[in-house]
Amino acid sequence: MQGNEFYIFLLLASVYGLFILLKDKKNPPTETFTCARCNKQEKYSPRTINAWRRGYDRLYCYTCHSQWLKDHPFRQTAADTRGGCLSVFIIVVLVPPTIYSVAKLFF
Ligand SMILES: [Zn+2]
Repeated sequence: MQGNEFYIFLLLASVYGLFILLKDKKNPPTETFTCARCNKQEKYSPRTINAWRRGYDRLYCYTCHSQWLKDHPFRQTAADTRGGCLSVFIIVVLVPPTIYSVAKLFF
């Protein structure tokens, strides 16, 4: 039984570690960013913070983003589904170690 408790602890520790890792990435290091299109300095908005969290290093100011949406009306829906893709990615990363840990308990 001692071994089972160790794997459960390991699982909880890895989930906790991932939580801390995600929490650390919560906010950008600076208050402003430089627009990748017009080089204007602009404060982060919820939209650009989300983009930053998703790993985009090319951020656009509100004006350039609005213009881009006008030029690419169909891509907006694709951008909206990226949040779902990120969730799926996290599940795909988390599930195999969990299955492995559970399998270790029984075999
Ligand atoms: Zn711009």
